[in-house]
Amino acid sequence: MNEKKFRYAIYIVLAILILLFYTKDIDLFGQNFYENIKQIDNPDAIMVLVNKNYQLNNNYVPNDLEIISTSYAYENKSLRKEAKEAFEQLSEDAKNLGYKIVATSAYRDYDYQKKLFEEYTNEKGEAYALECSAKPGHSEHQTGLAVDVAGSNDDYDEFESSIEFPWLKENAHLYGFILRYPKGKEHITGFKYEPWHYRYVGMEVATIIYNENLTLEEYYNKYL
Ligand SMILES: [Zn+2]
Repeated sequence: MNEKKFRYAIYIVLAILILLFYTKDIDLFGQNFYENIKQIDNPDAIMVLVNKNYQLNNNYVPNDLEIISTSYAYENKSLRKEAKEAFEQLSEDAKNLGYKIVATSAYRDYDYQKKLFEEYTNEKGEAYALECSAKPGHSEHQTGLAVDVAGSNDDYDEFESSIEFPWLKENAHLYGFILRYPKGKEHITGFKYEPWHYRYVGMEVATIIYNENLTLEEYYNKYL
């Protein structure tokens, strides 16, 4: 190989490296989020799948919402009855072990989510809104089965560094909850890692998901 060809080869390798660097966060084989959107036909099912490809109707409101006791949540936070009872038990058991796990956000209706997404978009642009929020109808919080929590450091955004996080990560499934948006599964869930967001699916399914290290999407693919 002469010097000219050698230099040419180096340029090509460099170009490939630069290309790889800029595309490493783009999942070329992932799903097309917010494309081919399907309407959800079983919104009341405990196992309902809501994500960027499955959308809830704008007037869907669960009919068994109950307010979580303020011993375990901020004021006026509600979940569906089954999820609410499970969460209160979880939070109570955590308290008895010296932990503090409090719901900071739970059920959110369609209009609230719409406003939230619009605010993010107006303040920081749509790319940012898409990164840290869901479009209306695509938020799990509208099911009344999802909850965001804070630990004893009182900041849901810092939940991962709280003393409660390691405990909840290993025990949430015993109460029927799963860590819904795990690290490294962003290309499957469509959402960034959210150590504070837990979804109620019931103990049996939560235990399978925990033991097999699945996401809800992967559970659907494998078992349903
Ligand atoms: Zn959440």
